[in-house]
Amino acid sequence: MTPGDAARRLAELVLRSERTVALTGAGISVPSGIPDFRSPGTGLWERVDPMEIAHIDVFRRDPERFWAFYGQRFQTLNDKRPNRGHELLARLEGSGLLQAVITQNIDDLHRRAGTQELVEVHGTIAHSSCLRCGASYPLQEVRARQAADGRRVPRCDCREPLKPDVVLFGEYLPARALERAVQLAEQADLMLCIGTSLEVYPVAELPLRTLAAGGQLAIITRSPTPLDGRAASRLDGDVVDELDALWADVQATRYSPAGSG
Ligand code: ZN
Repeated sequence: MTPGDAARRLAELVLRSERTVALTGAGISVPSGIPDFRSPGTGLWERVDPMEIAHIDVFRRDPERFWAFYGQRFQTLNDKRPNRGHELLARLEGSGLLQAVITQNIDDLHRRAGTQELVEVHGTIAHSSCLRCGASYPLQEVRARQAADGRRVPRCDCREPLKPDVVLFGEYLPARALERAVQLAEQADLMLCIGTSLEVYPVAELPLRTLAAGGQLAIITRSPTPLDGRAASRLDGDVVDELDALWADVQATRYSPAGSG
């Protein structure tokens, strides 16, 4: 099978499926200039042990230290833009070919690309909230408050330090997002696993739910995954190139007068 055949086969799976869900990991944001922190040598976390600082206990005990680190993260992510991979998933959704995107990324790029049905299982940097009064603030407001604070800790109107709505080490995953992700996985005829090595919970488990319920998997990522042998389609080229080819084949098949496929 040539790479072209593999992309066409995936297009057929997508067109035949009534409920397709995408599951995305760090690999889809790499072309936006956001390094996969698990890749050796390129890591976001190289000079700091995230387990030590991006931890709920540090946030509670020493918000100044926590925010000295997290403010840098916000700064790093602030200028990033969605790439063509994010955009193509939004287009597939707009064409009625994709039901939802489940992501472990916290970078907010799927939403900014226009994805409507988005489940963020590790939370998002898009807002921060107050653990005391529950108030929520958008990212730009949080950054403004951090810059204005003498100790560089963004604070709620009630003066409590704000916490980014991302899942920190030591925290549970957001229950509602997780429930929705499981529901989508179990109802999917086809799950597109994109840019994830399927090693970290919960993305490691969701494709198994799809398989157990009788659905199929397509895996688009460069690195090997534990589920490669169970995938109906396995593409290992550049994520954006593969999605581009998928989009082109979907268009060609859908609108071809012969109605092939
Ligand atoms: Zn508050």
